[in-house]
Amino acid sequence: MTEPAPVTAPIPTIAHAHAGASALADARAQLADAVGELGYDEGTYAMLAAARRELAVSIPLRRDDGSTQVLTGYRVQHNISRGPAKGGLRYAPSVNIDEVRALAMWMTWKCALLDVPYGGAKGGIAIDPRRYSTLELERVTRRFTSEILPIIGPHQDIPAPDIGTDEQTMAWILDTYSVTQGHTVPGVVTGKPLSLGGSLGRASATSRGVVHVAKAALESEGIDPRGATAAVQGFGKVGRDAARFLEQEGARVVAVSDQYGAVQAGLDGAGGTKGLDIEALAAHVDATGSVVGFAGGDALPPADLLTLEVDLLVPAAVEGVIHEDNARDIRARLIVEGANGPTTREADRILRERGVVVVPDILANAGGVIVSYFEWVQANQSYRWDVRDVEQRLAERMIAAWHGVSRYARDSGMTLRAAATTLAVQRVTEAHRLRGLYP
Ligand code: GLU
Repeated sequence: MTEPAPVTAPIPTIAHAHAGASALADARAQLADAVGELGYDEGTYAMLAAARRELAVSIPLRRDDGSTQVLTGYRVQHNISRGPAKGGLRYAPSVNIDEVRALAMWMTWKCALLDVPYGGAKGGIAIDPRRYSTLELERVTRRFTSEILPIIGPHQDIPAPDIGTDEQTMAWILDTYSVTQGHTVPGVVTGKPLSLGGSLGRASATSRGVVHVAKAALESEGIDPRGATAAVQGFGKVGRDAARFLEQEGARVVAVSDQYGAVQAGLDGAGGTKGLDIEALAAHVDATGSVVGFAGGDALPPADLLTLEVDLLVPAAVEGVIHEDNARDIRARLIVEGANGPTTREADRILRERGVVVVPDILANAGGVIVSYFEWVQANQSYRWDVRDVEQRLAERMIAAWHGVSRYARDSGMTLRAAATTLAVQRVTEAHRLRGLYP
C-alpha cells in the first residue's frame, strides 16, 4: 500500500524562502527572488507561493489478479489569474504533493512567459506504470479522472501528458469526462491522439522548441550550431526528438542516456567524433527498450554524460540531476533544460559563477504547452490547422520569448532563469492586480 505523502510545513516568508532542498523549496526561492527584484510585498509572495487549489485523492484499483490496491493521486492548480489551469499529469513512483506543487508553479510561469492564456497546474499519481497492465492503467486513469472531475474541464483545468503518461492516457481522460457530460468534450485534455482531435505537431513540439532555443542560445554564445557537440540526457518524449532535430540541424549528438544506461559516439579516424546516428539509435531503442547495447556507440556510465566536454547539454529527464555535487564538474558551455527543474538552486549558483549559461525550463521546454494551447484552440473551433501553421507559430513564439528573456537578462544583469521568472511573475501579478482581490 502507498503511504500518503507528508504535507509540507507552512509557506516560508520571503526571508526564509531559501531554506530547504527540494523542487518546491527551489521554486519558492526563485519566486522570492523575482518578488524582491520587482519590489512586490510579502502578501504578493505569500499568494504566489501557495497553490490556489489542491486535491489529493485515493484511487482504489482492482488489480488483474483480483486484489485491491489503493494509490494516491494529486491535482494542484497553482494559479488561474490569466486563464484556466494547465499542466501535465505524471505517473511515477516518486510523485508526491510537494513535487506536484513545484511543477504546478513552474507551469504558471511557463504559460505567462510564453503568453498563452492559462494559469498553471500539475497532477500526478504515485505509481510505476511499467509494473501495471494496460487494463490496470486504464482503470487507474478513469478512477482518478472521476475523482478530480469537479475541478477539471475545458474552461477550468486542462491536463496533458507528462512523464509516464501519453496519448492513450489522455484518450481515457477525455472519454471518462465526456461520458459524465453526455457529449464529447475534446477541449478537456491536450496531447490526445490525432483521431480524437489532437494537434498535428504536438507530439514533437517540446523537442522542437528545445532545439529552436538551443540554436538561438548557441549562436548568441558565438557557437555555430552546425558542428556543435551535444549530449542529451533522456531518450523519451523530449530527449529522443530533441536529439533527432539537433542532428537535423547539423549538430553532433555525441552521447545519449536513458534510465538504464548511456552511449557515447566513438572517435573518427582523425581523433574527432561524428556523433551518434540518432535514427539507428531510435530503431535500437524501439527494438530493445533502451539505448544500452547500441552497436553504433560505446557504453558510458550515465552520470558521466552530464560532465562531458560538449557545447550543449540537454537534460531531458527529471528534476534535480544537476546539483551541488556535480555542478563543478560540468564542462558544457550551455545547458538547455528540456526537463522541468533539472538544475537545483545551488547548482544554478555554481554554474553562474563558472560562466555556464543555463536556458531555463520555463522557456526551453515551453514548446509542449504552446502546441497544447494550439490544440485547445483547434478543439474549441472544431477546425484543424495544418502542420506548417502549427510549427511556424511554435517557432515564432519560442524565438520571440528567447529574445525577450535574453534582452531582459542582458539589460538587468540577471541570469536567464531569474529574468524569465521575473518576467513571468510580473505578468501574473499584473493580471491579478487588474482583476483585484475578491471580495
Ligand atoms: N507536461 C508538459 C510540461 O511540463 C506539457 C504541459 C501541457 O501541455 O499542458 O510543460
